[in-house]
Amino acid sequence: MRRERVVQALPQIMTLEEDRVAAYAGLPHEILHTDSLMEDAAETPVCTSRVRIGDAIAGDPASLPLAEAPFVVAAGNGVHDFTTFGEVVRALRATPGASRVVCDSGHMPRQTQVGASGTVLDASCYLAMGISGAPQHLQGIGRVETIIAVNTDLHAAMVARASLAIIADAQDVMPALLRLLQQEGESPCA
Ligand SMILES: Cc1cc2nc3c(=O)[nH]c(=O)nc-3n(C[C@H](O)[C@H](O)[C@H](O)COP(=O)(O)OP(=O)(O)OC[C@H]3O[C@@H](n4cnc5c(N)ncnc54)[C@H](O)[C@@H]3O)c2cc1C
Repeated sequence: MRRERVVQALPQIMTLEEDRVAAYAGLPHEILHTDSLMEDAAETPVCTSRVRIGDAIAGDPASLPLAEAPFVVAAGNGVHDFTTFGEVVRALRATPGASRVVCDSGHMPRQTQVGASGTVLDASCYLAMGISGAPQHLQGIGRVETIIAVNTDLHAAMVARASLAIIADAQDVMPALLRLLQQEGESPCA
């Protein structure tokens, strides 16, 4: 005769049965096709009586979902200076990523994990700092066009996969990169 009550967090997707909410009673709105307006908007902002299309505002790369990020800079076990790593990510206007080892150690949040048991990227550029290129990690970057590896091991799998490899200590490369960016005065990806 025991009665149990299970308390759960609210689900992320909720469906409503018909007639469970009151019908919309606000001002009626008209749905317009905006395809032609969007083409014009590339040149000059368009303003019609009902629709105004202004400039596109770029999203904050730091908070982009990893799967949608065009440029990811990731840290592996070869990165020890995570303060400088964070500065490099911001200076390059990239989205941060990490290997599983780094997420396991708590240096980076779990949602930054790239790979088979993390996120599969759709980025066009991936900068891998101190990442060996284990098969489970490489599964996450199979679709990436350009990979740049920073690694002390010339024979690392990530170096073999990369279009450009820098064989050096990541702790030396990161501040050097920051200095270059400061000299140029702008991010190459801005
Ligand atoms: C079921 C399963 C699922 C997994 N899923 C994932 C996953 O989704 N994602 C993932 O990443 N891993 C995953 N792994 C773990 C994976 O097998 C590797 O253990 C992990 O990717 C290794 O991370 P790493 O390359 O950062 O570290 P390491 O293997 O320790 O490699 C560190 C690299 O940094 C280099 N290095 C060292 N010092 C420096 C330095 N000072 N400067 C520059 N380079 C340096 C080294 O030469 C080496 O290449 C999974 C494993 C299993 C079993």
